Amino acid sequence: MNGVKTRTATAVRLSGVTKAYRGQSEEAAALRAVDLEVPAGAFLAVVGPSGSGKSTLLHCAAGLDVPTSGTVHIGDLEISGMKETRRTMVRRERIGFVFQAYNLVPSLTVADNITLPLRLAGAAPDREWLGALVSNIGLDGLLGRRPAELSGGQQQRAALARALVSRPDVVFADEPTGALDLHTAAEVLDLLRRLVDVFGQTVVMVTHDPAAAARAHRTVIMADGRIAESLTSPTAQELASRLTRLEQS
Ligand code: ADP
Ligand code: MG
Repeated sequence: MNGVKTRTATAVRLSGVTKAYRGQSEEAAALRAVDLEVPAGAFLAVVGPSGSGKSTLLHCAAGLDVPTSGTVHIGDLEISGMKETRRTMVRRERIGFVFQAYNLVPSLTVADNITLPLRLAGAAPDREWLGALVSNIGLDGLLGRRPAELSGGQQQRAALARALVSRPDVVFADEPTGALDLHTAAEVLDLLRRLVDVFGQTVVMVTHDPAAAARAHRTVIMADGRIAESLTSPTAQELASRLTRLEQS
């Protein structure tokens, strides 16, 4: 299945994306005419106050939800106009997900959790890639365990390996360090950054943590359904003070 994928210079593109949930007027929409381009190989963080539209942005960009208007491209494929079944196929083949709560299957071993997306897509694992992934992510020796036998950080690393196993065009992470203590969170972020640097993996990460966002190449700050600012390599302090100002306004 990997052979048919063509990489484009832009991994994700949103053009004029508006999302109004039922009962929301255009003016109060969760997303309002958002334009965003994520170059292949980039690590983008999305921050902003609660309710600013971060999760909605991630869900629309990842094809988990559809915009009210505007278009979403993953590589050269427009997913916003696709029917649900086709969008699900594209998601399986091109998109990886990491969640705050890991979402591993408790009854499966680490190895079976990691290869689950491939089995769902009816594909065989690329043994060489799987081996490189497992050793880079530091899961050697843990493959036979079940999630309950792992620490939080180890579970999130297994979830990262699962997200990467199909060599997705892009990995979307929603608060991936939200459930981890500071030290473990820093380790997982280091790892995420290394996957970007070593494998050229494109990553879009929603976070409320300025220190986490500071590990990305670029950070967009959401406010009231819009991208209020786009910053290249901001420091954690810089982001924290901008967020504090937004939360007070
Ligand atoms: P964030 O992730 O930044 O906290 P969300 O994207 O979850 O923000 O929400 C943006 C806005 O859309 C909020 O006003 C929220 O209440 C609203 N919203 C989110 N999901 C739904 C939904 N399923 N139905 C109705 N309104 C929603
Ligand atoms: Mg959210």
